[in-house]
Amino acid sequence: MKPLSPGSTIGVLGGGQLGRMLALAAARLGFDVVVMTPRADDSAGRVAARTIVAPYDDDAALAALAEVADVVTFEFENVPAEVVGKLQALGVETAPGPRALAVAQDRVEEKTFLNAVGAPTVGFAVIDGPADILPALDKLGAPALLKTRREGYDGKGQTWIESHADAHAAFDRIGRRPAILEARADFVREVSVIAARGRDGEVACYPLAENHHEGGVLRRSSAPTKASAATVEQAETIAARILTRLDYVGVMGVEMFELKSGRLLVNEFAPRVHNTGHWTLDGCEVDQFEQHVRAVAGWPLGPTTPLAHVEMENLLGEEADAWARLAAEPEARLWLYGKGEARAGRKMGHVNRLRPLKG
Ligand code: AMP
Repeated sequence: MKPLSPGSTIGVLGGGQLGRMLALAAARLGFDVVVMTPRADDSAGRVAARTIVAPYDDDAALAALAEVADVVTFEFENVPAEVVGKLQALGVETAPGPRALAVAQDRVEEKTFLNAVGAPTVGFAVIDGPADILPALDKLGAPALLKTRREGYDGKGQTWIESHADAHAAFDRIGRRPAILEARADFVREVSVIAARGRDGEVACYPLAENHHEGGVLRRSSAPTKASAATVEQAETIAARILTRLDYVGVMGVEMFELKSGRLLVNEFAPRVHNTGHWTLDGCEVDQFEQHVRAVAGWPLGPTTPLAHVEMENLLGEEADAWARLAAEPEARLWLYGKGEARAGRKMGHVNRLRPLKG
């Protein structure tokens, strides 16, 4: 594909805050964004040039999107992988392609792929029914984490199993769905790397972020975080393997556990821009959203050099009501997502607090 000229149209499947920030970045480079989302009042539609409101599997809507878009990307990894295949069949380029989505959507496929490309993970076992849990617990040890294979995010669809006696109840708690049992990662901290791959195969990684979750939801990221050269090299090697083996185009977030030994285990990867990369909006020469737009448009990747140290804090639910106080903080950059209803735990915005890089 030739690099897209400014004035071209980028289609985005999904209408959340990630789509919104992609649309803002795309607009700055002269592109128009068409968002396709099932919900009319979504965050991204408010800043996109056009919104197609339809379910992702609506054939007429997909045809309309393919008609206007020069390339289609997504901001939401639970878009059915077949939809991306359909768009390709309609003759429109998609980036990333359907394989990255299909692998990331199933935790068993994902871990199997990761191990095959030399990206280590915790031990795991496939759970098709409660009878599979006891032998898996014997193999992996207790406590272990039972997660649905598909459609889990932000800590949803997962539950700890403390002992054999809890196995059946745990399977009920996740809705008796096909699952994976994961050994507990005995980590000292959680880190992530935001990595990009261009159409020419070039890979660029941002500095590592250290992440803090509460109840499975990201609360804060701090970046660039202190890490040894060996840790950074491991993270970048892992990211490059994943991107290259998927023939990936675009930005990806790779979440990892750092063990006491310094070894990194991959928890999961997200085939899209990522919450732990929001710090780049104010902390880097080119942020993750512009980087993704550059990659999918076939432009050269931009520099990932950090310009400041950033503490990123998610604003959940009513926390975003403090916008006036936050806006008055001199070192804070406020990002609000234009969502109407501040339901408890809903990601309404984030704040990046900047300080100079040391040395
Ligand atoms: P996930 O939905 O897989 O991103 O998991 C959400 C959070 O649960 C992670 O960020 C970790 O804090 C925790 N977690 C997930 N998997 C494991 C594991 N195998 N061992 C320990 N903690 C985990």
